[in-house]
Amino acid sequence: MDGEAAGKRVVVVGGGVAGASLAKSMQFVADVTLIDPKEYFEIPWANLRSMVEPSFAERTLINHTDYVANGRVITSPAISITENEVLTAEGRSVAYDYLVIATGHAVPIPHNRKDRISQFEQDNQKIKAANSVLIIGGGPTGVELAGEIAVDYPDKKVTVVHKGSRLLEFIGQKASDKTLDWLTAKKVEVLLNQTVDLDSVSESEKIYTTSTGEKINADCHFVCVGKPTGSSWLQNSILKDCLDKTGRLMVDENLCVRGQKNIFAIGDITDVPEIKQGFLAQKHASVVAKNLKLIIKGAKESKLSKYKPASAMAIISLGRKEGVAQLPFMTMIGCIPGIIKSKDLFVGKTRKQLGLDPGTA
Ligand SMILES: Cc1cc2nc3c(=O)[nH]c(=O)nc-3n(C[C@H](O)[C@H](O)[C@H](O)COP(=O)(O)OP(=O)(O)OC[C@H]3O[C@@H](n4cnc5c(N)ncnc54)[C@H](O)[C@@H]3O)c2cc1C
Repeated sequence: MDGEAAGKRVVVVGGGVAGASLAKSMQFVADVTLIDPKEYFEIPWANLRSMVEPSFAERTLINHTDYVANGRVITSPAISITENEVLTAEGRSVAYDYLVIATGHAVPIPHNRKDRISQFEQDNQKIKAANSVLIIGGGPTGVELAGEIAVDYPDKKVTVVHKGSRLLEFIGQKASDKTLDWLTAKKVEVLLNQTVDLDSVSESEKIYTTSTGEKINADCHFVCVGKPTGSSWLQNSILKDCLDKTGRLMVDENLCVRGQKNIFAIGDITDVPEIKQGFLAQKHASVVAKNLKLIIKGAKESKLSKYKPASAMAIISLGRKEGVAQLPFMTMIGCIPGIIKSKDLFVGKTRKQLGLDPGTA
C-alpha cells in the first residue's frame, strides 16, 4: 500500500468479534485505531466453559495489543461521534477518515484480563460451593451454562427459568424441543413461561419465587438474560436517525451506515436480517475490510463487495462433548455438533484467525 493510503485513518469502535477481525485485517493497510472499554478481546462463547474451568480463560482472553501490532489501542468507551471524530469517555477526540462501528453489546466487564480471570474464578467457587444453582434465562447463555454445570457437576441440582414458551427462541422449535429433552435427561429442571423478579432475588434467602408463584430452592443464581445492544452511546449523535427501533444501526448492502459515505457498521450492532452470530460478524468484517481497501485505492462504489444475509445456522454447546445444531434445513443434537464446537469452543480457530498460536485444546 502506498504512503497516502497507509495514512488514511480508520477508527474501529468496539473490540469484540467483528471489531477485532477488522482491526487485524486493516492494520498494515491504513492508520488503524481500535477503541474498546477493555484491554482485551474475549471469545464470548467460551465464557460459560471458563465459569466451570477458569483456566480455560487463559486462551480465550487476548490482549488487543497481541493482535494489533501495527495500530493504536485506546482503552475507553466511545461516548459520541461527529462527522470526523470519535469522542471517548476519558476525554479524547480521535479523528477518522473512515469509521467502523462494531459495538455489538455493551456489558460492564473488567477492564483487564487478570480481573476477568478472577471473575471466572469467583463464579467457579460459587458453583462449586452450591448444591443447587438457579439459572435465569433460557437463551444460548443460560442453556450453555446449564449444560456446562450439568456435565461437569452432575450431582448439583440445576433449574432454568425462562420467560418464553420455549428455550433458544432464536432458532427453530425442533432444536428447542431436543435441547429441552437433553437437559431434562441430565436432571435439569426447566420452567417455561415464568420469570424471576431480579430485584427481589437474594442469595442469602435461598428461595426464589417465580411470576407464577412457584418456589425454587437454590444456593446461588446466575442471570443469563439477553445483553443490551451497544448503541446507547449513539443516541444523541449524528447517527441517531440511523438507529432502528431496536437500537440497531441500519446498513446498506455494502454495510455502510444508511445515508453515510465513510461510516460502516459490522456485527451484532447492524440490522442485517439474519441470526446474530460471531462467524457472520467476521464475514461482515471481511467485506468491510475489502471495501475499505478498494475505497482507499480510489475504486468506484459499483466495484464494492455486497454482503448477503446468511441463512439460519448456529451451534449451541451442551457440555464438553455434545451440542445442538440449527442448520438451514435440519436440526441435529448429540456428538456431531459436539465434535464441531463443544470440545474447544472454536478457541484455537479464533486465535489462529487473529494470527496467534492456537494453543492446546
Ligand atoms: C452463549 C453464546 C454462544 C454463542 N456461540 C456462538 C458460536 O458458537 N458461534 C458464533 O459464531 N457465534 C456465537 N455466539 C454469538 C456471538 O457471540 C456474537 O454474534 C458476537 O459476539 C458478535 O460480535 P460483535 O463484535 O458484533 O459484538 P460483541 O462480541 O458484543 O463485541 C462488542 C464490543 O464492543 C465493545 N463496546 C461496546 N460498547 C462500546 C463503546 N461505547 N465504545 C467502545 N466499545 C464498545 C464491547 O466492549 C465489545 O468488545 C454466541 C453467543 C452467545 C451469547
